[in-house]
Order: sequence, then C-alpha cells, then structure tokens
Amino acid sequence: MNEKSKLDKLMGYIFGTDKKLFHEVHIDQEVVDEIIQISKEAYPNEFVAMLQGKVRDQILHINGLIFLPGETSNQGAVMKVFMMPLIDDTVGSVHSHPGYNASPSDADLYFFSKNGLFHLIIGQPYNESSIYAYDSFGEFLSYKII
Ligand SMILES: [Zn+2]
Repeated sequence: MNEKSKLDKLMGYIFGTDKKLFHEVHIDQEVVDEIIQISKEAYPNEFVAMLQGKVRDQILHINGLIFLPGETSNQGAVMKVFMMPLIDDTVGSVHSHPGYNASPSDADLYFFSKNGLFHLIIGQPYNESSIYAYDSFGEFLSYKII
C-alpha cells in the first residue's frame, strides 16, 4: 500500500467512509500555549493529553486538549492511555519529552498507530519551535498555529 491509500484507509476508519481528507492542520494558539505551560509544569515527568479537533473543508483544526487520569509519570506517559478507546472528536495525542529529543520512541510509534491521525511531541526547551507533529505512521507533518 502506498502512503495515500494507507491514509485513506485510516481516515475512513476514523471518520466513516466519506472522503474527509485533510491537507492542512491548524492548531489554536491557546492550545499551543497550554501545551507549553503544562510541559514545563510536568517536567521532569512527561505529560500526555488527547487532541480534540474536527476536519472541515479539508483542514484539520485542533481546538482543545482532553486530559486523562494519571497524565504524568516518569516512565512513559503514553503507556497509560494505550487501551483508551477513541472518543468522539479525539483526533490524536500530544505528549512531552523530558530532554531535547522530540522524535517518537518505539512505544510512541505503536501508540500513534492505534490512537488517531495527528500527534504532537514537545521536547525541551518547551517552546513553539520544539513542538513536532507526526502522522499515525510517525512521519513528519506540518501545521500552522492560528
Ligand atoms: Zn514519547
């Protein structure tokens, strides 16, 4: 399968069978600010939250965070939400890394593949330029802060 058909299949799974593909991702400035603030507060632990959003006019718009119980830990925050079912307007996840490496770990990649289509990792120093976005396959995505 090529990347396009993998994405189509994934989108069909998440959003039903109609073609609601997105070509752009917009993230609200206040969501970004919240991510930065919580990452700093959680340090040296990780924090994890789910991203809330909608696809409209082929734009994925991220407009909120959904917090889960036990969102910080010192041993891999994402492990705690592994079994969480996808809830309604959850489109992906965000988590912080203590350290300057914002690349997905093997556990992160597994988590990404099971939990939506758009994922953020923020590394130190926890600012707008240390937030990286990935698709379900761990490939870089670009986004705009609006
Ligand atoms: Zn991670």
